[in-house]
Amino acid sequence: MRSAGVSLRLSVPVDSCLVMRKQCPNCGYPVQTCLCHAVQPVTNYTEVIILQHPKESRHAKNTVRLLNLALSNITVIRGKLAVDFTELEQYLRADPKPTAVFYPAEQSTEFSHGAEKASARIKRAIFIDASWKQAYGIWQNNAWLNRYPFFKLPLHQSGQYTIRNSDLEYSFSTLEAVAYTLASLEQLDPAPLLRLLNTLTAQWQRFLPQRD
Ligand SMILES: [Zn+2]
Repeated sequence: MRSAGVSLRLSVPVDSCLVMRKQCPNCGYPVQTCLCHAVQPVTNYTEVIILQHPKESRHAKNTVRLLNLALSNITVIRGKLAVDFTELEQYLRADPKPTAVFYPAEQSTEFSHGAEKASARIKRAIFIDASWKQAYGIWQNNAWLNRYPFFKLPLHQSGQYTIRNSDLEYSFSTLEAVAYTLASLEQLDPAPLLRLLNTLTAQWQRFLPQRD
């Protein structure tokens, strides 16, 4: 994402608890759950921009890391308040291609594989990576997002991401939301992304201490 003289840094989350353990230098996961073998690079033409809540970036099982490893066209910006996204907002204004926000707000239109007509022109997709409550806060604090059309995804019941199953506010992962959207917008094969998610889930279930 470099144009109009505005450059955005790709934020690489550093998990403070992971630093204590041995990390893979490529994927950033602990060596025992390294995911490099499962990463298959995916070329995406729709520009993916993730607004990531700072707490989410520190979560070891965050799925945006996986998207960062696999997608060719993705930018992650951490923050909560409008001031955190000033540079992004300037960038979006300077390069005004058709943009949509994927967040279930009141004004959101249902987005599905059948919604090609509405989505045909979307060249840039913005997602919020946070719990529902945090995501709501980010939306409320960033009125500039309302400049763009909003879509909600029909993924609400069927998230396959079960690592945080005690945390009911996550019904599907950001990875699934992005994979579904790219599959709809540009007929991208979501399989490599979903496989990566499956691998992460399997690895963590294997190493997760038994609880509950
Ligand atoms: Zn690795």
